[in-house]
Amino acid sequence: MTIRTRFAPSPTGYLHVGSARTALYCWLFAKNQQGTFILRIEDTDPERSTQAAVDAILEAMEWLGLSWDEGPFYQTHHFDRYREVANHLVNTHHAYHCYCSKERLEALREAQTAKKEKPRYDGHCRHLTPGALDKPYVIRFRNPDSGTVVIDDCVRGRVVIQNSELDDLIIVRSDGSPTYNFTVVVDDWDMKITHVIRGDDHLNNTPRQINILQALGAVIPIYAHIPMILGSDGKRLSKRHGAVSVQQYRDEGILPEALLNYLVRLGWSHGDQEIFTRDEMIQYFALQDINKAPSAFNPEKLLWLNQHYLKTGDLVELTKQLQTQMDRLGVDTSIGPRLQDVFIAQRERAKTLKEMAEKSVYFYQDFERVDNEAKEKHLTEEALGYLNVLYQELEKISDSDWQAASIHAALEKTAATLGIKLGKLAQPLRVATTGNTMSPPIDITLQLIGRERTLVRLASQGLTVGAGAL
Ligand code: GLU
Repeated sequence: MTIRTRFAPSPTGYLHVGSARTALYCWLFAKNQQGTFILRIEDTDPERSTQAAVDAILEAMEWLGLSWDEGPFYQTHHFDRYREVANHLVNTHHAYHCYCSKERLEALREAQTAKKEKPRYDGHCRHLTPGALDKPYVIRFRNPDSGTVVIDDCVRGRVVIQNSELDDLIIVRSDGSPTYNFTVVVDDWDMKITHVIRGDDHLNNTPRQINILQALGAVIPIYAHIPMILGSDGKRLSKRHGAVSVQQYRDEGILPEALLNYLVRLGWSHGDQEIFTRDEMIQYFALQDINKAPSAFNPEKLLWLNQHYLKTGDLVELTKQLQTQMDRLGVDTSIGPRLQDVFIAQRERAKTLKEMAEKSVYFYQDFERVDNEAKEKHLTEEALGYLNVLYQELEKISDSDWQAASIHAALEKTAATLGIKLGKLAQPLRVATTGNTMSPPIDITLQLIGRERTLVRLASQGLTVGAGAL
């Protein structure tokens, strides 16, 4: 048997990280089993589905590298098929035309609520023959009256639901459009899905879907309902907790490898391993290792993983991504140091590419002014005196010799002449040339900033406080 999984997003917005995790699990399981991963766009709700949302989902899937083997399939392209199956169910008495008016259903609901009963359809039209009345109708599935539905869920274990709890579900609306639970069933059947892996917010739908599948004589897939992702307050992860869309993380400078690695561990484990390559994830992934309890989103851990991938990832590829972030900041990197050298200098110093880009602007653009606090602390009269001496040493280095080693030698020499420690010189120098107190080692920083820019920046600091020698 070939394993077939599907990811079936409703295109109503961005790709939520919870959905991305579902997609990842479907993809991993298919890959692990040499199966087929299918992408199905559940776009039957015309009010909420948009092309922009479809595009956003496809783009996010591609960015994550979750490539599909079949699809994307669009449910709106299959309305004829849903109608055909609905008619088949009517013809085999598994479904019937229901003519009940809104008013009748409303009154029924009110009466049931007043008696503290769960509102449910009472089967009023169950015994009518199709076409009995010349009135608009919906098609309802005739749910079995008795017995149970048993789900042997890969994550939840056995779940048993009494059929008496379920009422006759509408599968086709009066305008002829199919309903959500019905399209899922027809597609899972037609696509020969063997494993339905989805969020446990769908667990309520599963017994209804199984009953319809059974009426169709379909093979029932195996289900794995994944617990939700929670925010730090224990509530379901939502915008209130910060970024929830894959695109937002991408824009923040999170790497796809880091996000995937984070998501795979969020609800699944393999011993106590934290860092997984894509191949390891595929190799080790197993449905029975999915946690039963919901997991809480931990942004710190995501950043930790991101830093790991920044440190260890492919230089050329990461530089390209840093370029995107620099472009986004409107920084022209065509004049100045090679961006790849900036990346090498910064790769251990930032948790995201965005942060790295923000911390690299001074290599290409002059900063407006030195951070006030840094200025007060480090650009003291005494320090400016040291910088004056250093300036003269640096000036002696020619443009072609402007390398970390020669810069370092100039610093050493100046410190020795002044009888001070290197640090006494390095930090004021950093503040004067970068505008703040954090940068890669100062000799590398100056090499990247370049000779002319370094000297101009030093001079301008000196002049501001009127240090004569400059
Ligand atoms: N379209 C559903 C959703 O986006 C998923 C349905 C399913 O996986 O069965 O929540």
